[in-house]
Amino acid sequence: MELRAGFSESSIAPVLHYSLKTQSYQDTQTYCRLEKMESSKFDSEKVIEEFESLTKDAKRVQLETLERILKENCEAEYLKQWNLGGKFDPQTYSTCVPLVTHKDLDPYIQKIADGASYPVLTGKPITTITLSSGTTQGKPKFVPYNDELTDNTMQIYRTSFAFRNRAFPIGKGKALSFIFGSKQQITKGGLLAGTATSNVYRSAQFKKTMQAMQTPCCSPDEVIFAPDFHQSLYCHLLCGLIFHEEIQVISSTFAHSIVHSFRTFELVWEELCSDLRTGLLSARITVPSIRTAMAKVLTPNPELADMIQKKCLGLTDWNGLIPQLFPKCKYIYGIMTGSMEPYLKKLRIYAGGVPLLSADYGSSEGWIGANVNPNLPPEMTTFAVLPNIGYFEFLPLKDLDFDSQDRVEPVGLTDVEIGEEYEVVVTNFAGLYRYRLGDVVKVIRFHNSTPELQFVCRRNLMLTINIDKNTEKDLQLSVETAGKLLTAEKLELLDFTSHVDLSTDPGHYVIFWEVSGEASDAILKECCNCLDKSFVDAGYVSSRKVKAIGPLELRVLRRGTFQKILDHYVGQGSAMNQFKTPRCVGLCNQKVLQILCNNVVKSYVSDIFG
Ligand code: AMP
Repeated sequence: MELRAGFSESSIAPVLHYSLKTQSYQDTQTYCRLEKMESSKFDSEKVIEEFESLTKDAKRVQLETLERILKENCEAEYLKQWNLGGKFDPQTYSTCVPLVTHKDLDPYIQKIADGASYPVLTGKPITTITLSSGTTQGKPKFVPYNDELTDNTMQIYRTSFAFRNRAFPIGKGKALSFIFGSKQQITKGGLLAGTATSNVYRSAQFKKTMQAMQTPCCSPDEVIFAPDFHQSLYCHLLCGLIFHEEIQVISSTFAHSIVHSFRTFELVWEELCSDLRTGLLSARITVPSIRTAMAKVLTPNPELADMIQKKCLGLTDWNGLIPQLFPKCKYIYGIMTGSMEPYLKKLRIYAGGVPLLSADYGSSEGWIGANVNPNLPPEMTTFAVLPNIGYFEFLPLKDLDFDSQDRVEPVGLTDVEIGEEYEVVVTNFAGLYRYRLGDVVKVIRFHNSTPELQFVCRRNLMLTINIDKNTEKDLQLSVETAGKLLTAEKLELLDFTSHVDLSTDPGHYVIFWEVSGEASDAILKECCNCLDKSFVDAGYVSSRKVKAIGPLELRVLRRGTFQKILDHYVGQGSAMNQFKTPRCVGLCNQKVLQILCNNVVKSYVSDIFG
């Protein structure tokens, strides 16, 4: 551990810990090389070498990672109660420590947030709290955060960048990154609470790593951390245009933010051009710190304004907007899997031929895996688990009812089977032990001895009334099928969500749609029937036939409804770039349900089962 103490600022520490006992001299050398790399040139090959070495020995790395987590934290109240008896092996751990959900750990996290002065979940005190996006339950959850999670983030960023840079090399330049620092709160006990992405953006390591990866954000900090995300987004777009010749990468955490940003561009591009022409920032920007920061980069440039105007006017339906505006853009980068897939269609339109590269897999609770196959299209993206950033277990879902999981034993990282689906269980360096993440993943292949996972869906986003069980993925497929009817009419499905309405007898599924224009009643009725027909789950179909589930209802929303939902989440502390449209809104999410119900303009009822 002396080595660690000596290198406490290191963001590459996790890469090294796994082999401290056996390779400390070599690791010290590696450390020095990688430390230099952070401030100078990024050495992709070196990072890949490190990754290969970690993943070749994934089992041992996992054992050492678990041991380290337990040793560091065994004096914490939570672990003490499980009487590990000084043993830190997986067998003892899984026998003594139960599988938990956020609800089980919440009282402990609350104690930390309230300022407990003794070790509750971790040996070293937790000083920061992460607010998860809370799209499922309607309100953000508290999750403990510490420097180890920042280290993990940088390791993941570096790893996937190394592979990305091999396939899509970039030179010196800038990134147009739609990143937004969320509001920070202070908990009762005086701890800072912000979203995971904000915690990362505020860290010194983030900037250093982005510099080393030659993708510093083109916008000033005042724009990233602006108190108003609408103003922040406008200025991100403006900075992108100002630095358009240097932009090599366009990115955000999730694809939703990228699409949302360019949809906003469609609405404000003329105003942006006017700002560029005059050098005067639009009056819509009222935050003084943003105005001051933007004044340093915005100068009158009528030629640029004319050029952008000409390009915008020359486009058909914004097809190929990105390469027109940013001729040196090498790729578009962000999470495009899972609930982000529905935005790919629009993103491909903006992208023209610019490659879409899907980003890594993680959560407020910590990172899981990196995309090390950047050549694959987003729909086929997999994530290689980094075995030193946490201890991972996998609950098999094969042939099992989703609710009966407690009786099933999870398997270790290297024991998962190709083709099988699992729920991810995380033990991390910030006080989560055997924590069920709630995500379903499928093992696609192995990279050395670590699995490559495909994200399948969230487990708890389930439409169920009777014996039916439809997941987020099922909903997505049904909406995709019905949405094709709109495409044929040159209309676009902007966003969607669902609700199980039990106020009718029998209960029925409600699907909410926001559409880009006026669709005829006939088409929408057809879409409604198509939605109902496309839920092919046997439990649903049989229940519909015997009328144990009522006809599906399609409710069409007023334009701008999903913007109101986004505003609602951002208002309660979520970050715009961590936003994921809730795909199923339950009664516990009253506020969002109210927004939806108050904005319905038309509704249709399926008649496919008579
Ligand atoms: P948050 O609560 O904001 O931290 O969101 C974390 C959740 O986002 C994860 O548990 C996943 O459900 C989802 N997520 C994160 N990364 C990915 C990814 N690469 N693909 C699909 N879903 C993801």
